[in-house]
Amino acid sequence: MNETVKQRILDTIEEYETVIVSRHIRPDGDAVGASMGLTKLLRDTYPEKHIYLTDDDFSSYLAFCGGEDEVPEEAYQDALLLVVDTGTRARISNRNYKRAKTVIKIDHHIEADPYGDINWVEDFRSSACEMIADFYLTFKDRLRISREAATYIYMGMVTDSGRFRFEGVTGETLRLAGALLDCGVDYETLFAHLYSEEPSSLKFKSYVYDHIRITEHGVAYLYMDKATQEKFSLSFEDASAVVSELDGIKGSLIWVAFIENTAKGNIRVRLRSRFLGINDLAIKYHGGGHNMAAGATVFSEAEMYDLISDADELLRAYKAEHGDKI
Ligand code: AMP
Repeated sequence: MNETVKQRILDTIEEYETVIVSRHIRPDGDAVGASMGLTKLLRDTYPEKHIYLTDDDFSSYLAFCGGEDEVPEEAYQDALLLVVDTGTRARISNRNYKRAKTVIKIDHHIEADPYGDINWVEDFRSSACEMIADFYLTFKDRLRISREAATYIYMGMVTDSGRFRFEGVTGETLRLAGALLDCGVDYETLFAHLYSEEPSSLKFKSYVYDHIRITEHGVAYLYMDKATQEKFSLSFEDASAVVSELDGIKGSLIWVAFIENTAKGNIRVRLRSRFLGINDLAIKYHGGGHNMAAGATVFSEAEMYDLISDADELLRAYKAEHGDKI
């Protein structure tokens, strides 16, 4: 069935002279990789079309990937909009998305909002970039891929799968990644970007390790209030990246970062887990996402502690049934 959807997507792209690519707010490596990779793929294949990449947001962590385009508002009325890696319409980082003539959703989140005129959703995929790689390989006789495009798509596969570690990685994931490597992915530069950090960020990490809290049954969490974000001169996005520092603590199968968002008057929640799912917990707190990586929002410190107790109970019940796990 998805073969038909992919064919419809290619046919629709070929029909339009103007194609706009968008991704989700607060873009991560997958959102940036899928949008940049797809944009490059289409520009290289169809040099005569107007292909734009647009985003209302900016992610400093991925600044090395380059910028976005200004899209004239009048371009939308005859345009095709391709939205990648974005589960719900509220998360589309394009305030003009409703103006597009046709919208296509290409996504790997659990389907909650089929906002596209065409929806290609495969929640078993480890990244949206895996779908873009699959799209390229399905039509490789018709599409042209450059080293740059392959590198962007590979970047999303690598980052969203935790370097091919997370649930959802399959033999197919690695076959697709292998096909991209054959297109000349520049992994040396890519990994240099992904792993280099400013010396000041090491000071921040040492603060983080000192302030991680662990609940009775092992939920690791950290609250980054505004004062701490200011103390370390962190953007909201940089402060949010703290969730990855909570990974890898023995017995802490659930870890959660809370980031105070004074601009919105709420607290962003980033939830991660291994062995057990936390998506239902995220849904309970106004969020969602994947089984083991989800986002939510709480509106007070009291609600934050409610979420922590719910997470602790979830982990208690899991350990009672399955015993201690790494
Ligand atoms: P994050 O912690 O923001 O990286 O989110 C982890 C995963 O959950 C990502 O795939 C997000 O796209 C998804 N996600 C985050 N917040 C929400 C939300 N409020 N509703 C639905 N999905 C979300």
